[in-house]
Amino acid sequence: MSYTGRCACGAVTLAIAGAPITARQCWCRQCQQIAAGGPTHNAMFATQDVTIHGDLTGHHYVAASGNTITQSFCTACGTPVMGQSDARPQFRVIRLGTLDAPHDIRPLMAIWTEDAPAWAAIDPALEQFPRQPPPPSIPEPS
Ligand SMILES: [Zn+2]
Ligand SMILES: [Zn+2]
Repeated sequence: MSYTGRCACGAVTLAIAGAPITARQCWCRQCQQIAAGGPTHNAMFATQDVTIHGDLTGHHYVAASGNTITQSFCTACGTPVMGQSDARPQFRVIRLGTLDAPHDIRPLMAIWTEDAPAWAAIDPALEQFPRQPPPPSIPEPS
C-alpha cells in the first residue's frame, strides 16, 4: 500500500509507504478551526512510513488530555498537512485532503462528536465517540 500527496500550492509533497492504521473524522474545536467549521478528515500512519518534503509550519497546543499536539501546515499556502501528539510519536495523522485522489481511504469513525455543532450531519454508519477514542493497538515500531 502506498500513497502520494501534496498541499494546495505544491510546495509540500508526501510519500507514504504503508497502509493506514485507522481513518477518522474529528469534530474537536481545534479541528473545526483549521477545517473552516467542519471536521478534519484524517488517516493515521506509522511515522516511519511517512516522508514529507517541503516547508511546514507547526502550531503547538496542549490538548484536554494534557498532551501537546502539533498541527503542521504548508508554510506557503496554509494547507493543513499533518497532526501529531507528543504522547504518540509513533503515529502521524495525515489530513485526507492532501492525499492524491483516487485512493481507498475513508473515515471509519467520528470522534469528539460532543464538540460538533448542532447542524452537523454525522454519517450514522460511522462509529462515534463523544471524545477521544482509545488509541489503536498496534505493535510499537521497532
Ligand atoms: Zn502549499
Ligand atoms: Zn480534532
